[in-house]
Amino acid sequence: MKKPRFDDIYMELAVNLSRRSHCIKAQVGAVLTRDTRIISIGYNGPPAGTHNCDEEFPEVGCPRDSKGSCSLALHAEQNAILYAAKNGSMVEGATLFVTLSPCIACARIIYSMKIARVVFLHSYARYKGIPLDEGVEFLRKFGVEVVSYQPSEGFEAAFIQGDPHL
Ligand SMILES: [Zn+2]
Ligand SMILES: [Zn+2]
Repeated sequence: MKKPRFDDIYMELAVNLSRRSHCIKAQVGAVLTRDTRIISIGYNGPPAGTHNCDEEFPEVGCPRDSKGSCSLALHAEQNAILYAAKNGSMVEGATLFVTLSPCIACARIIYSMKIARVVFLHSYARYKGIPLDEGVEFLRKFGVEVVSYQPSEGFEAAFIQGDPHL
């Protein structure tokens, strides 16, 4: 039987983590790894101890910023990176798995933290209906490897079809 690669395992975990998000519009999960070990995880949402969008705004949804995103939430990548930094984990050279490709703001942070590789499941541009994945373009331009997740041959990535949010 074929063994799943770490890419398969960590992307599946990122999808599972996205289910923990309290944001109403988008639910995104992230796993930060180094040398194939997990150093941090995250999902999008307001900082711990502030709001739970689905509980506080069940009718109207998250308060939106000018681009239509939740104005309170830290993005999944930000939560994962901040936790690692706060705890003194070495982030340089890490690989980030994320269920939605990074927005431009997250891309700047990913680059600054010297994360080496990003694996994403869904396209942020497609989700937003905008022509260009500017976060992906930015990262590639400045030497960060960015790849769209492809399940290993023989690995049944049932979690991809199962995502109702994107
Ligand atoms: Zn929200
Ligand atoms: Zn972002």
